[in-house]
Amino acid sequence: MYDILIIGGGPAGVSAALTAHNRGKSAAIITNPYEGSGLYKAKEINNYPGLRGASGAKLLETMYAELSGSGIEVIHGRALSAMPISEGFAVSVGQDYLSGKALIIAVGITQSALFPGEAEYLGRGVSYCATCDGMLYRNRSVAVIGLSDESESEAEFLRSIGCKVEYFGRERAKRFKICGGDTVQSLIADDTEYSVDGVFVLRKTIAPSALLSGLELSDGHILANDMGQTSVEGVFAAGDCVGRPYQVARAVGQGNTAALSACEYLDKG
Ligand SMILES: Cc1cc2nc3c(=O)[nH]c(=O)nc-3n(C[C@H](O)[C@H](O)[C@H](O)COP(=O)(O)OP(=O)(O)OC[C@H]3O[C@@H](n4cnc5c(N)ncnc54)[C@H](O)[C@@H]3O)c2cc1C
Repeated sequence: MYDILIIGGGPAGVSAALTAHNRGKSAAIITNPYEGSGLYKAKEINNYPGLRGASGAKLLETMYAELSGSGIEVIHGRALSAMPISEGFAVSVGQDYLSGKALIIAVGITQSALFPGEAEYLGRGVSYCATCDGMLYRNRSVAVIGLSDESESEAEFLRSIGCKVEYFGRERAKRFKICGGDTVQSLIADDTEYSVDGVFVLRKTIAPSALLSGLELSDGHILANDMGQTSVEGVFAAGDCVGRPYQVARAVGQGNTAALSACEYLDKG
């Protein structure tokens, strides 16, 4: 079990990890590869001290170079959900679980609007992970709403294990509604209803409300106080996911504050 588990490896998450490590805490970052982040595409950053004119890619590479060899573990993958356990929190990443005594959420801007029926049927036919839950739908009909770069290959995986897959890429439909009784029975895509037993919603990120239950939001952002404390004890948040302005310097500062708060929380026992 790590002292501090950080979800999201942008500037806020990296800053949080470095601070936690410097305070003598074991820390790990669970993150999508940084090449996929919006910042990686920024041509020139002129408002972050010390690296004037650097591209977003250069900034991220410099931050990650600092992590390598530091003892901070970087675990590549998408965190699917977090839940409280007796000593802290367990976070699922694909089929694995990682645990931490405190949690810092630094996932950047996420799409917080869920499709109608998505939250209601999560775990009862709605899944965010083909590899984890695919076998439950072998020889059954599923819909895949493909919103991430890996969606097509995940749909292919579902086909390979015997699922009958109805695939919805970005062009095929825009509006979705998940319907059913105790479990999912159909998906309405635009105006057509498809009879399915499961719906895989494959986004690049997971909406904060789906990531951890009890996390209060405000205006689509995670509600956190000035010290990064969220509505869930032991859970802190930093960076774009807590609100505007969306800026690197702010994200780095908030990552630092959230980590200091997490250390204080752990030290109090
Ligand atoms: C094109 C562009 C140009 C910009 N230019 C500037 C600029 O000049 N100056 C400036 O100050 N700011 C700029 N910004 C804004 C800046 O990039 C952000 O404010 C900053 O990156 C926020 O850092 P963050 O750590 O909060 O989030 P992010 O940098 O978004 O990092 C979050 C990371 O977490 C990952 N993640 C999300 N959910 C999960 C999950 N469930 N599991 C695992 N990983 C997950 C994401 O994929 C991402 O890699 C720019 C942004 C863009 C897109």
